[in-house]
Amino acid sequence: MDCPVCEIFSSVQGEGPLVGCRQIFIRLYGCNLHCAYCDTVLSEEPAHCRVEVSPGQRNFKLLQKPLQVREIASVAATFDLSLHHSVSLTGGEPLLRPSLLKALIPLLRGTRRGIYLETNGTLPDALAEVIDLVDMVAMDFKLPSVTGLPPSWKEHKSFLKVAVLKKTFIKMVVGNETPLDEIGEAAELIRETSSNIPLILQPVTFSGTGGLTAEHALSLQKRALERLEDVRVIPQVHRTMGCL
Ligand code: SF4
Repeated sequence: MDCPVCEIFSSVQGEGPLVGCRQIFIRLYGCNLHCAYCDTVLSEEPAHCRVEVSPGQRNFKLLQKPLQVREIASVAATFDLSLHHSVSLTGGEPLLRPSLLKALIPLLRGTRRGIYLETNGTLPDALAEVIDLVDMVAMDFKLPSVTGLPPSWKEHKSFLKVAVLKKTFIKMVVGNETPLDEIGEAAELIRETSSNIPLILQPVTFSGTGGLTAEHALSLQKRALERLEDVRVIPQVHRTMGCL
């Protein structure tokens, strides 16, 4: 089976509650959304898969595509899976290809905590196909005020019902343009599934936006804490280290 993978590397997780954990990242090309702050190349599938040979050194080897799932797993294994917290399947949106995930994941065993799926949280049927194979779900919850897109809340609600079968947290990218009422409404929707799901508010870093002031971050957190047990503000950290 061909694998539209565009990057493989070993680095620290830079977002959410597992920030700092060492992971092997496998980035798949393509997404069903087009968020205003997206930092991933989505306009054209790269001709090669980029592999960082020495972690942190940005010395890349380019692998000719198409690649088969066994080749992807072999490259991942060169980083020594046993020293890693988990394999992060990221994108783009990995759930665009559930059949591929079902073929690839069983070949990625050997990390300390298994498989970490990073997803935009809008494809519940695809998640249901692979939920038995993943160990952690890092689900984005997309706020229209920041994405510039129509709401996906019906999809998020269906998605959450499947995701909570495994260890799950939710990440919301927020900015100064995020209204308190929008956070309140989103937190209420999450609470309808469970008030114990950790919610991470991540300040937007896209240069075309106004960012997020400390005052507004704390106001947004307070509004979400009125409905949910565990709400944290965590900026991206890998960028500050210069990591991929
Ligand atoms: S869901 Fe993620 S990969 Fe897709 S457009 Fe939005 S930020 Fe980019």
